This record gives sequence, C-alpha cells and structure tokens, in this order.
Amino acid sequence: MLSIVSIIFGALIGSFLNVCIFRLPKEESIVWPGSHCTHCNNPIKYYDNIPLVSYLLLKGRCRSCKGSISAQYPLVEGITALASLILFMRFGPSLSYLFYFAFVAALIVITVIDLYHQIIPDLISIPGIGVGLLASLIIPQINFLDSLIGVLLGGGSLFVVATLYQWLFKREGMGGGDVKLLAMIGAFLGWKAVILTILLGSLIGSITGIIIVVLKGKDFKYAIPFGPFLSLGAVIALFYQNEIITWYLQYKG
Ligand SMILES: [Zn+2]
Repeated sequence: MLSIVSIIFGALIGSFLNVCIFRLPKEESIVWPGSHCTHCNNPIKYYDNIPLVSYLLLKGRCRSCKGSISAQYPLVEGITALASLILFMRFGPSLSYLFYFAFVAALIVITVIDLYHQIIPDLISIPGIGVGLLASLIIPQINFLDSLIGVLLGGGSLFVVATLYQWLFKREGMGGGDVKLLAMIGAFLGWKAVILTILLGSLIGSITGIIIVVLKGKDFKYAIPFGPFLSLGAVIALFYQNEIITWYLQYKG
C-alpha cells in the first residue's frame, strides 16, 4: 500500500520536475508559458494534467489542437515515480528516503537541462551542497566529516582536472557546472562516492562518446555534456558503493 503511495508521490514530483526543467533555464532563454500547449497555446486543464495518466488518455496529443506533447513529460514522470519506489523499498518510510529522493530528483532535473542546454543550473547544485551537508547531520547513512570532505574533494578534484584540460588543450572541456554538481554529489554521498562517481561517469561517458563518434562520425571535440554521466555514476554509487568498494579491495588482494 505504502509502495503505491510512493509511486504516486514520485509521479507528482516528476510532474513538478518537468516544470523546473522548462523554467530554470528560462533566465537565459525565451519566456516559457508553463501550463500551455506549445502548439496552440491553449491552457492545459487540470484534468489533462494528471502525471502519466493524462498522456496515455490523450495518446500524447493536445486536446485542443491534437499537436503532439513531448515524450519528455511522461518519461520524467515515469523515471521519478520509479526512483521514488526503489528508494522507498531501500530506505522505508524515513527521512533518509526523503533526502535521497530529493537528491535523485535534483539529478533528474540537472540531467535533462544539461542534455538540452549544456548547462547545469547553480540554482540546484549550490543549494544542493547545503542540503546535503545538513542532511549528513541528521540521517544515519553518512556523517558530517564524510560529507564535508566529499564537497571539498568533489569541488577540488574536478577543478584541477578542468584547469589542466583548459591549459593543455586551450579550450574548456568541463564546465564549472560539473564542478559544483560533483561537490553536491560529495555532500550527499561522501568522499568515497565522489571518486567512484568520477570513475563511473568518465567510463560510461567515454564509451558513449566513442559510440557517438562511430555512429554519427562526429569529431571527438564535439562536446557531449558530462552532467548526465556524473548523475548516472552518482546513482550507481548511491546504491552500490559499498559493494563496488568491497569487490575492488578483494580483487586487489
Ligand atoms: Zn494544443
């Protein structure tokens, strides 16, 4: 029963995340009319604004003009609902569930905005650092020192790599947004997870980059955003960091 509540709660938050995804980068782009159809500009009625359900009932089309509604809406709602369920099953009805769900929700918004705009909004990452540090004082999964070192390591290490890259190749490889994102990941998950996130993010990012080069024949210089890969690495670290570290230490001898 509570699992179903966590799915519904997740879908509702997902609906809110869709609004954030459109409105946060608004400062740099055109004004976005949030609850209007992008084709006919008709306002969307409340009964057509139910997460996941409305998209299915309307078969992905606007009620007024039959223009197609972006698949991003149900995708973000579905992924957020699933994340809520999985975290609820892991942490149960607890503050930890709420903190990690807020963390994953922030990563979802960052991923989609980074994919569209190649920016990571400070409005999420910087408050996220504060929330993560505060959470470490309350929840049992992490202590404050671990969280603080995570922020310093996350912010510091990528800053060093980004500066070196710029100095060597005379162009920006990683944005300042990635540095702040990694500091936020450090705040929520601790310093070990930061190292794991950089390794996993770079690995998955490189493999994806090679696939894009092979399939589309694009130059390696064609920048692909790093934020989504760091986010994915962080989610893997959230669930499996202990298992991966134990496995690594055993493997090492
Ligand atoms: Zn329409």
